[in-house]
Amino acid sequence: MALDIHLAGQTASADQAQRSCGSCTLCCRLPEIDEFAKPPDVACSHCTGSGCAIYDGRPQVCRDFLCRWMTNPAFPDTWRPQTSHILVYDQGQQVTVLVDPDYPEAWREEAAQAAIAQWAADAEKEGRYLILFCGDYVEKMGARR
Ligand code: SF4
Ligand code: SF4
Repeated sequence: MALDIHLAGQTASADQAQRSCGSCTLCCRLPEIDEFAKPPDVACSHCTGSGCAIYDGRPQVCRDFLCRWMTNPAFPDTWRPQTSHILVYDQGQQVTVLVDPDYPEAWREEAAQAAIAQWAADAEKEGRYLILFCGDYVEKMGARR
């Protein structure tokens, strides 16, 4: 399934940032980015590992993207992507959860399972759904799993 961070339906926008990315670059590695043919789970060629080498001239798709941790102050700091290894973002009807395949167990831990089930339940109440990706593994989740 193609992932795309060209988020026409994304609910976030750059002026909604509530936190700072710091040296996190997870969204420069995990998603597929159609605009510059970046495959999933491969670092963008401009990614330095702690930032973007072309930050001032980065593409609009990168300027527009913010994960849920960045936009929602109520989203616990536990889910900081750099430390949780889990990137969550809202894309129209879809809540996308990308798990760093270098940490394939990250989403299987009890606390993560409970949180993901809650996000899925919350999405379902809004008529939305959640899809989790971890490398080649894909799962669509509803409120009950
Ligand atoms: S995953 Fe979130 S916190 Fe990390 S660089 Fe991307 S927007 Fe920033
Ligand atoms: S161009 Fe920069 S901000 Fe965009 S994905 Fe590549 S490293 Fe990240």
